[in-house]
Amino acid sequence: MDGNNQRQSAGPAKLVIVGGGAAGMFAAAVAAERGVPCVLVERKARLGSKVLMTANGRCNFAKDISPEQFLKDISRGGIAARCAEFVAEAVRECPPRQICRGFQSLGVRTKRMTDGRIFPADEKAATIVHAFGDLLRDEEVPIVTNCPVKEIAAVKGGAARFAIVANSFSILAENVLLATGGASYPKTGSVGDGQRFAQALGHRLIPYRPGLIGLETRDEKVTRLAGRRFEDGAAKVFDASDKAVFEYRGEIDCERFGLSGAAIYNAQRFIEHWMRERGAAARLSAEVSFGRETVRLDSLRPRPLKEAIVTIGGVDTKEVDPHTMQSKIVPGLYFAGEVMDIDGPTGGYNLTLAFATARKAVASIAKKEKTP
Ligand SMILES: Cc1cc2nc3c(=O)[nH]c(=O)nc-3n(C[C@H](O)[C@H](O)[C@H](O)COP(=O)(O)OP(=O)(O)OC[C@H]3O[C@@H](n4cnc5c(N)ncnc54)[C@H](O)[C@@H]3O)c2cc1C
Repeated sequence: MDGNNQRQSAGPAKLVIVGGGAAGMFAAAVAAERGVPCVLVERKARLGSKVLMTANGRCNFAKDISPEQFLKDISRGGIAARCAEFVAEAVRECPPRQICRGFQSLGVRTKRMTDGRIFPADEKAATIVHAFGDLLRDEEVPIVTNCPVKEIAAVKGGAARFAIVANSFSILAENVLLATGGASYPKTGSVGDGQRFAQALGHRLIPYRPGLIGLETRDEKVTRLAGRRFEDGAAKVFDASDKAVFEYRGEIDCERFGLSGAAIYNAQRFIEHWMRERGAAARLSAEVSFGRETVRLDSLRPRPLKEAIVTIGGVDTKEVDPHTMQSKIVPGLYFAGEVMDIDGPTGGYNLTLAFATARKAVASIAKKEKTP
């Protein structure tokens, strides 16, 4: 080979993004925009498997509300204050309306429902995933699919801080962004790997709980209506002294196992956070109204984590800097999305959280690169 044509070794990657879901695709797009060279590595054969499932394939990616309202909604009823506090700066800098404008600038027409939820106008999640795919192709961002990362090892000496190890090769990197998602719907690729990598590097994990999932009941008032949907349902949660502590009005679906639908999901998320924050002794019950029926649920059994819309728990946000999304323990290690212990209610909050934290992480890497 002619020596003049030989390329100089490029050295370690500036940034490797592990996980090509909502947060990883958004992070790669921001990296391209800000001139941060990156490589995106995804376990599955295609990007955004979970995004494609969102809102029954329609993708409710944001809600048309202010960042302050967004933060209030996350912690409504006095739960998840830590989460709201941790994401506040990221959400203020990347509010839902800005996310919406960002997609519009990529040619995605959007649609606002009367309750403020925002979807692509064609109500196809694939439109969102294709918009990312087109942008990353045009910006020539290297993407490795069908490639589960097996290990992230800390490397000493030289510019590289990490070796990102896959089955048949490894990549050296100065910075790693873990965007590997939660631990629900494992078939979409989110199996808790990022949490394991973080733990191996010294991070504490908050135990998983299912979030936004149905509640089981054998009450005949429910099971005999299996298959029916009630648009104007209500789910109320009571504390041990029978004081109503949370109420959510919205759709309720009667299922063979019990109840699902937005009102149930948000009540269930509230219950999980309440129990976690107040200890197992915190007794709660719920009253669910749909059509002409009202059912009191005293044993509140959620469906399993693998069916949950979101994972509550994950990397402890106390060990992540909210101003940069960088680990406080391992310099150069960043986090975005559901891999962390952050979650919101139904209505586009969780995708917005993934996007806003991804933007925050990459913006801070870009800033670090510019600072001599
Ligand atoms: C049925 C359903 C409906 C939903 N509907 C909505 C909705 O309408 N609106 C909303 O806001 N939210 C919704 N959500 C929640 C939302 O999809 C998630 O919160 C969001 O996708 C989280 O983004 P993420 O990037 O953190 O994780 P993910 O989108 O799960 O992406 C993680 C990616 O990392 C990859 N990965 C994991 N491990 C590795 C590894 N070792 N190596 C390489 N890659 C790896 C995975 O394959 C995956 O592609 C829904 C969720 C479900 C399950």
